[in-house]
Amino acid sequence: MEQNATDEQIQTIASKVEAMGLKANIIVGTERTVIAAIGEKRGSFKDSLESCPGVSAVTPISAPYKLASREVRPEPSLIEILDFRAGSGHVGYVAGPCSVESEEQLMSSARAVKAAGATGLRGGAFKPRTSPYSFQGMKEDGLKLLAAAREETGLAVFTEVMGTDDVDLVAKYADVLQVGARNMQNYRLLEAVGKCGKPVLLKRGASGTMDEFLLAAEYILNEGNDQVMLCERGIRTFETHTRFTLPLASIPYLHRRTHLPIIIDPSHGTGHTYMVKDLAVAAVAAGADGLIIEIHPDPPNAMSDGYQSQTFDEFAATMDRCQKVQRALQAD
Ligand code: PEP
Ligand code: MN
Repeated sequence: MEQNATDEQIQTIASKVEAMGLKANIIVGTERTVIAAIGEKRGSFKDSLESCPGVSAVTPISAPYKLASREVRPEPSLIEILDFRAGSGHVGYVAGPCSVESEEQLMSSARAVKAAGATGLRGGAFKPRTSPYSFQGMKEDGLKLLAAAREETGLAVFTEVMGTDDVDLVAKYADVLQVGARNMQNYRLLEAVGKCGKPVLLKRGASGTMDEFLLAAEYILNEGNDQVMLCERGIRTFETHTRFTLPLASIPYLHRRTHLPIIIDPSHGTGHTYMVKDLAVAAVAAGADGLIIEIHPDPPNAMSDGYQSQTFDEFAATMDRCQKVQRALQAD
């Protein structure tokens, strides 16, 4: 729409778009309002819409994803939950154990996360494990502990939801619902988190392409939830010196394609504690909008992912370096 288009003109165009059998998604930006006409490709209506009052241009969006694309929303999105901020110049730091194991384990972790200057707490209560015989998580008891940790520390709680049946329960306790790598293409789950009213952290599937990743985000956005963060957590390659291969090129690529914030997970991305700090620093230097890092009070005895978890001291040192890089870049 033109910069000075009236509300009435915007509504009129939205109604015309709906009358064509398309969904009209009104995106209000600082410069101008965009009406995204979403649906299956139609015959040309460019000329008839373009001649309407208040319309600046009708532009076909070339990317297969629409609401996620920079073409529809040129300005970066900012996600804000309590003190956590990611995107639009803010780097959001999230840390915590892979799994919630006990009150003491979680509370000590939450205090360490807070003390190091991070603003998000992670912790799995429902765990997707490769083997059915491995620890599956504390489920609702774990969610209650996460909520108690938020109560004490003010940290925003990130936790995974594995199935559609659990969305309401997880949304009751969590601030951000994490969709795990194994569920990136679970379309019913993506729709359900799109309807849940809470921000979502969508992890990239280990074999998901960038287009598939962004189309997965599109499912959530298409339900009216614009609070989506993308998480690069590494992909599967022929290489075995790391658990997964963490492509930091995803950061500039995604920044070019989408307005959604990009969070890097150097823990799953490398699978080795000794690599986490360097990759975290590199991610911040490359323009990541946030990090999600696994920490544990006693990594060798963690119930999951201990081999890639940092101690509290290692995490504090990581935060220190990342923030130094951030300040150096800001001063530039
Ligand atoms: C996790 O965050 O602990 C996790 C299971 O991650 P991913 O879905 O990326 O494997
Ligand atoms: Mn983990």
